[in-house]
Amino acid sequence: MDFELDKSQIEIQKAAREFAKGEFDKDLALELDQKHEFPKKIWQKAADLGFIGIHFPEEYAGQGMGILENIIIADEFCARDSTIGSAVILASFASECVLRFGSQELKQKFLPPVAEGQMLSGGAFTEPGHGSDITSLDTAAVKDGDEWVINGTKTFITNGGLAGFYCVLCQTDAESKPSYRGISMVLAEADRNGITCADVGAKMGIHMLATAEVNFKDVRVPAANLIGEEGRGFYQVLEFFDESRILIAAQALGIAQGAYNRALDYVKQREQFGRKIAQFQVTQHKLADMATKIELARLITYKAAWNYDQGRIDPKLTSMAKMYAARTAVEVADEAIQLLGGYGYMTEYEVERFYRDAKITELYEGTKEIQKNTIASAVLGKIK
Ligand SMILES: Cc1cc2nc3c(=O)[nH]c(=O)nc-3n(C[C@H](O)[C@H](O)[C@H](O)COP(=O)(O)OP(=O)(O)OC[C@H]3O[C@@H](n4cnc5c(N)ncnc54)[C@H](O)[C@@H]3O)c2cc1C
Repeated sequence: MDFELDKSQIEIQKAAREFAKGEFDKDLALELDQKHEFPKKIWQKAADLGFIGIHFPEEYAGQGMGILENIIIADEFCARDSTIGSAVILASFASECVLRFGSQELKQKFLPPVAEGQMLSGGAFTEPGHGSDITSLDTAAVKDGDEWVINGTKTFITNGGLAGFYCVLCQTDAESKPSYRGISMVLAEADRNGITCADVGAKMGIHMLATAEVNFKDVRVPAANLIGEEGRGFYQVLEFFDESRILIAAQALGIAQGAYNRALDYVKQREQFGRKIAQFQVTQHKLADMATKIELARLITYKAAWNYDQGRIDPKLTSMAKMYAARTAVEVADEAIQLLGGYGYMTEYEVERFYRDAKITELYEGTKEIQKNTIASAVLGKIK
């Protein structure tokens, strides 16, 4: 058993930490958060330095690394700044659907612009009537000659309105029983006629990320835009979750680490009753609990990533990592605010933003209840 990162992973970690330290400016973060603006320049710089799509093969402008290297970057970026970090690591969201299942042509056309910071990507799975349950869908894609015609509405789509393309989950066979065997994944370029985006309203956190409703009205895409096999879309999206949930776990882990770091610095300088508040045992115990949770979250998240890279895909472990790291982010950020007292509630001290950003990790890519369902079904097996 070896719990050490190897030399190149340590270098990636150091490079990601230094990049984030140099670029994720606190005042800029506060400004972009208030303006709800995507950190475009930072994303492009991150791409120039190879931090986006590090897990893509070199022929698609990646570096041929694994998920572990990708999550090391996510951990470092989100620890430095929860919102800029989240925006940058999710700029390439769902591009892995193309990477894992797409044709050679789709990979060649769409992966390099994502890795090179020219294009954001999006995964359009959720619908107003189908959130946790995507076993049947209202969005339909119908074959017409050598094209697919897509009609329907997807909601809560990250990078909606900014992305260059969406991986759209569609019902392609309405008669199929069970219905999920009639679901396919189709790539729709964002500039196709008939695609429009609508506002989903104000949200609690991750303000720098666009979240939109994406509408498809008679949208025609070439038949070659089918990602993977017809009728396999539901299975493909589950496989994608085995990978993407580890990234969300790393996002949560970084947010927890960042909130903890700020609280640790603060308690060492703040004085009350003539003593540093770090000298109160209750403060020390809070820090001990926070540090322990972060250590556990990191162990399980890195293990899930390492397993994935070894080809040992384990949905149970992935769900455990996502569920545990997300809970850790929410609890640690909450405790960080507590340790900063009234200052923790103020925007300038950042931890309130980390707290707001933490909560989404318990919701998207499967809620914590859905993760528990996955874990429970794996531990129970078939009940006779
Ligand atoms: C900011 C943001 C960004 C998002 N980005 C994307 C994106 O890029 N692409 C995309 O496709 N989607 C995205 N989503 C959607 C997200 O994945 C869904 O919101 C999530 O899967 C839950 O679906 P729902 O909101 O419809 O809730 P529901 O499915 O209606 O769930 C409501 C409650 O019921 C519980 N519940 C549901 N089913 C079960 C069950 N079987 N057992 C126990 N409890 C259950 C849930 O856990 C939850 O507590 C995003 C959402 C947000 C808020």
